[in-house]
Amino acid sequence: MTTNRGRKDVIRDRMAATGESYNVAARNLKAMKDTAATRDAVLVQRWTPADSFDVPCPCGGTCEPGETCGHCHARHRHVKRYPGSTTEVETWADRYECTGCSSSYTLTVHLAGRPWGVAGTVVRGGSGEEVVQATVFPGVIHPLLRSEAAEGPGGSDGRERGAPR
Ligand SMILES: [Zn+2]
Ligand SMILES: [Zn+2]
Repeated sequence: MTTNRGRKDVIRDRMAATGESYNVAARNLKAMKDTAATRDAVLVQRWTPADSFDVPCPCGGTCEPGETCGHCHARHRHVKRYPGSTTEVETWADRYECTGCSSSYTLTVHLAGRPWGVAGTVVRGGSGEEVVQATVFPGVIHPLLRSEAAEGPGGSDGRERGAPR
């Protein structure tokens, strides 16, 4: 049986095909995997809300149907998705807005295999305490964490001014 091939076989295949050393081939394969994960994460977040309830939600059908509004009895529509945790990389938050009034709510969803970043354990200096720290994929907008490559110009757009102390 050759269907259950290990990671080392994949690396050796790449070495044979490209002439790279084991370490270089492993690194390049990992980079390709990260790139694919980044692209998937950006796709999870970047979509335009559906114009009508007759078409499937463009988020990929991974959301709950919108609830009926208690105020105006119109339906809520899935309008946004963003990372819903600072440590659980497969936790996303879905925002729903009423199509008839200003009502809205947010649901937390778990999307297995669709992380918005990579979680790792780091040891905090001094106490030696281990804490989970997540790195956001470039291109993903996290409401609380900064993306790895978020060194863009400006930085004041869309940001709310802090309340007076
Ligand atoms: Zn949706
Ligand atoms: Zn409403």
